[in-house]
Amino acid sequence: MKIICIGRNYAEHANELGNKIPESPVIFMKPDTAVLKKNSDFYIPEFSNDVHYELEVVLKISKGGKYIQPENAGKHFEEIGLGIDFTARDLQTKLKSKGLPWELAKGFDGSAVLSDFFPKSDFDLKNLNFSLIKNKEKVQDGNTSLMIFPPEEIIAFVSQFFTLRVGDLIFTGTPKGVGKVDENDFLEAFLEEKKVFDLRIQ
Ligand code: MG
Repeated sequence: MKIICIGRNYAEHANELGNKIPESPVIFMKPDTAVLKKNSDFYIPEFSNDVHYELEVVLKISKGGKYIQPENAGKHFEEIGLGIDFTARDLQTKLKSKGLPWELAKGFDGSAVLSDFFPKSDFDLKNLNFSLIKNKEKVQDGNTSLMIFPPEEIIAFVSQFFTLRVGDLIFTGTPKGVGKVDENDFLEAFLEEKKVFDLRIQ
């Protein structure tokens, strides 16, 4: 199983980090060891003093393929969920400034938090609300209508480079409002009105 992630897929989030709006999807990956065990706390790694949450809609590939056309991409995922793409922002900023890959800042153990997955037919994927509450305060409030590259285009793009297999996951990018986590923070993720996971920071 591989985890493919899209960066800068919401204009206001690109802006908040001082990045340009991309002309094609920005892609990076996390290893499968990045997945945080279900119901585990998240431990801030010792190499960072500035770990950010990024709440994202996650697609689960249900049918493999390569060179998938956008009009067929919907047949390649049946379920969606939410995830957090934890990012060591201080380390990422350092790597970016040197023109180096981001993986150390993005792919570390526990950096991929996942909810359960739900049939996409239960939702309007073109107009899906999702939100993150930190310590009872809403910090991210996203809607998939604001994606620069919608799921079909993401799948078409990445499958030109990577063969997609059943079970692969695609993190589709975070909306604005990213921020730091501190010890004892409590995060709660909502897909529409449904709470899909919560998480304690250690
Ligand atoms: Mg992200």
